[in-house]
Amino acid sequence: MTCALHPGIRVSEIFGPTIQGEGVLIGLPTVFVRTGGCDYRCSWCDSLHAVDRRFRHDWEMMSPDAVWQKVIALSGGQPVMVSLSGGNPAIQPLSQLIDRGHGEGYRFALETQGSVSKQWFADLDVLVLSPKPPSSEMTTDWAAFDACLEAAQDKPQMALKLVVFDDDDYAYAKDAAARYPQLPVYLQPGNHTPPRPGDEDAFIDMAGVMRRMEWLVEKVTRDRWFEARVLPQLHVLLWGNRRGV
Ligand code: SF4
Repeated sequence: MTCALHPGIRVSEIFGPTIQGEGVLIGLPTVFVRTGGCDYRCSWCDSLHAVDRRFRHDWEMMSPDAVWQKVIALSGGQPVMVSLSGGNPAIQPLSQLIDRGHGEGYRFALETQGSVSKQWFADLDVLVLSPKPPSSEMTTDWAAFDACLEAAQDKPQMALKLVVFDDDDYAYAKDAAARYPQLPVYLQPGNHTPPRPGDEDAFIDMAGVMRRMEWLVEKVTRDRWFEARVLPQLHVLLWGNRRGV
């Protein structure tokens, strides 16, 4: 049940456990709570089914308790990392869910582009900030991004994750890393053949993704950017564009 005191969470899908496919928690068994709705519309978004309002009929307004019961069922009641992703999970009321899970020994990671800050960011275990580079056709509001860091108050483990498609994105990534030298930086090549919503197992140009990965490794090493970590999207290598894995 949702009400003013217990606002509902708009959920696109809950799945797992599987492994986290990218960034600072790569390889870690995780249950995913993917929320519906995003204040961005990146040109290469790989989660359009959780962004495009045309798919809102597939989203479900769930109480924090209902979300929690699903997480418990998927994890067999054994504490696991819960990834709050989207869409932009920062626009959902997730505070209660996090408190509930912490009470039972679960940990929570949230990934957001950094456009909306919430006080409860300080309650997270891991906060991954993933500002979107020029190829996304979005514009970063750095003041809003700074507000996310302020809200987190250095309490969660934090990281910057940047998708890089081309030279402009690479320059943007370097600029973002220079702005936030306190944050570890994770770079990943973009998937230029993202899944289309409704196509459960869409074509992926894996050779192209790997070429971009090699290009990125070369670029980082030639540049002597030795603080950056370059990672592929592990789930893409394993399962291509398949959803819910
Ligand atoms: S911020 Fe993320 S979920 Fe939102 S449109 Fe961009 S890539 Fe998609």
